[in-house]
This record gives sequence, C-alpha cells and structure tokens, in this order.
Amino acid sequence: MSGVLTEVATDAAGCRACRLAETRSQVVFGVGDPGADLMFVGEGPGEQEDLRGEPFVGRAGKLLTQLIEGIGLSREQVYIANVVKCRPPGNRDPHPDEIAACSPWLDRQLEIIRPRVIVTLGNFATKLLLDTKDGITKLRGQRFAYTRAGVDATLIPTFHPSAVLRGGGRPLAETRADFVIVKRVLSGP
Ligand code: URA
Repeated sequence: MSGVLTEVATDAAGCRACRLAETRSQVVFGVGDPGADLMFVGEGPGEQEDLRGEPFVGRAGKLLTQLIEGIGLSREQVYIANVVKCRPPGNRDPHPDEIAACSPWLDRQLEIIRPRVIVTLGNFATKLLLDTKDGITKLRGQRFAYTRAGVDATLIPTFHPSAVLRGGGRPLAETRADFVIVKRVLSGP
C-alpha cells in the first residue's frame, strides 16, 4: 500500500461509525496496488473475509482472481474493495445508514488510487454507485462515465462472482465478455 493509503487503512481499522463495528472481527479495508488503473468494488465482506481481513478470499474471490488473470493481470496489480468495510451479520445486505457511514472510506480510496476503470461487482454495488434502480442484467458490460471524490473514471458493471458461481455457464461467459471490455478500456487512450 502507498504510505497515504496505509495511513487511511490504519484509521479505518478503528472505525466505529456504525453498528457493524460491534459484530465484525476486523475491518476489511481493501487490497492491491494503490496505483492501480483498475479497481473492483463489491458489496461487503463475508465470513472468510471478516476472518482474514482481505476482500474476496472465499470461493467467489477465487473466481474473481481467475477472471482478473484471464485478462492478463494479477490480483496484486488491481485494487479490490467493498462498499462496506465490515461484515454485516449473517451476510445480510448492508443497511442505508451503514452504507452512508462507510462511504467516506470509499471516497478516500478513490481519491488516493484514482483508478481509470471501476468494475462494480453485482447488483448491490452497481445500483449504489450509479444511483440507479436498473438491474445488473441490463447494465452489465456497459461503460458509464463516472465521477466521484474528484476522480473521473469509466465504470463497468458486471455480475457478482457469487452469482456467477450460482448461475453456471451463461453468467460466467457473460462475465468473461465483460472483462474483455474492461481490458479494452484499460488499453485505450
Ligand atoms: N462478496 C463481496 O461482495 N465482497 C467480498 O469481499 C466477499 C464476498
């Protein structure tokens, strides 16, 4: 991590801005290259992530790593984070007040990393970042001009890897196609 991002992660580790602080094992801030061009945003840590302190380390995480490697990158070359940094109990969806309390951490990550491309993983992160009611099936693979925290990026939604694991061949093929679009945008001007 860059010095600045490490400092922010250290601050976040003690965050008690919402009730998730009472049930988490630890804050799952994010992982990867602080200078990454590509940043992934998921929903929130699950059980494995809460125990390990790293996003996307369970089965869905293994698939995400494979998809990243499928476009010629490694997990270390991208940055991976979630909308909320603490595990909601029982993996329920984060509540609006928890998302609001956590959003300054995502803002800080964006300000420091300044990714060119943001990939939202699944319905939850996509609806939240794009502020839309449209679902992931409609939005996936499209490119959106996105500005947040003073950063201009291209946002590309795709399925959540957990949904791909549940859905099998078709969502996997569609997700792979979305990653090809991500690669194309990254290699563009
Ligand atoms: N699902 C998410 O959205 N994020 C994780 O870190 C793990 C599973």
